[in-house]
Amino acid sequence: MPDIVEVVQEIAEEMRQRPDRGEVATYIPELAGVDPNQFGLAVIDTEGHVAAAGDCDVPFSIQSVSKVFTLTLALGKVGDRLWSRVGREPSGSAFNSIVQLEYEHGIPRNPFINAGAIAVTDVILSGHKPREALGEILRFMRFLADDPAIAIDEAVAASEQRTGFRNAALANYMKSYGVLENPVDYTLGVYFHHCALAMSCRQLAMAGRFLAQRGKHPVTGLSVVQPERARRINAVMLTCGHYDGSGEFAYRVGLPGKSGVGGGILAIAPGKASIAVWSPGLDASGNSHLGRIALEALTRRMGWSIFGA
Ligand code: GLU
Repeated sequence: MPDIVEVVQEIAEEMRQRPDRGEVATYIPELAGVDPNQFGLAVIDTEGHVAAAGDCDVPFSIQSVSKVFTLTLALGKVGDRLWSRVGREPSGSAFNSIVQLEYEHGIPRNPFINAGAIAVTDVILSGHKPREALGEILRFMRFLADDPAIAIDEAVAASEQRTGFRNAALANYMKSYGVLENPVDYTLGVYFHHCALAMSCRQLAMAGRFLAQRGKHPVTGLSVVQPERARRINAVMLTCGHYDGSGEFAYRVGLPGKSGVGGGILAIAPGKASIAVWSPGLDASGNSHLGRIALEALTRRMGWSIFGA
């Protein structure tokens, strides 16, 4: 088995030198100014050994990677009843597509496209004030990452709140079908804020560890979710975690993963490791360009694809 510390260093060096870096997301103005030359990678195995390189300690906007954690919280709150509000099939369309919602009567295809994540956020919000719901999400992230310093970047949240017309359209459309219970502004406010969580690769890999180790919290050993639920969240990540690029990601990387337009990806090698990679430039599907290439190199060299070496 190759040495993971060396492999991570090699990959970070290879990615630093590549000229093709993708395009930074500009539709959220605050993200448009992020330097595309950054690259970070952190791998934490199930025993807690860390291999990290590049800009692995620089906080970035995790954006849609937060949807893995809000899905976990919503399942904890309402259990499998969640699946009457949101589906679990790949969408085959863009992350912010509105056309499918009309065909499917306001029920989003899966919890990782924007419409689905807004519906999941609404479930977490019910019975709470927006501030309380956000507090719950933030506490959950700090608990999982074992790091009380994790925070929300208010400038990013405000930037998206000012310009998130497409998400407002999706939310209003779902509200018209009764899929959202709370005032649209409240649900969107919580959604924009959890997308604006700022975390480093090291913190994010730590937060994802419970999915690599059958639902157990890495430090306390307590159960975050049952093993069956961890397995199912991984399944939804594999099939839906990269929007319209989910098939390509499974083909090339072969791990459950969730991307965000900030350029981060959380990938899970079940029973082996939790991996976070960040490079801000995106490909045409809105997924980190170098992040995907780096993960492909990592799984190939380590033999970690769930489909075999
Ligand atoms: N906050 C972003 C949006 O709703 C998340 C999209 C993403 O990261 O893919 O547009």
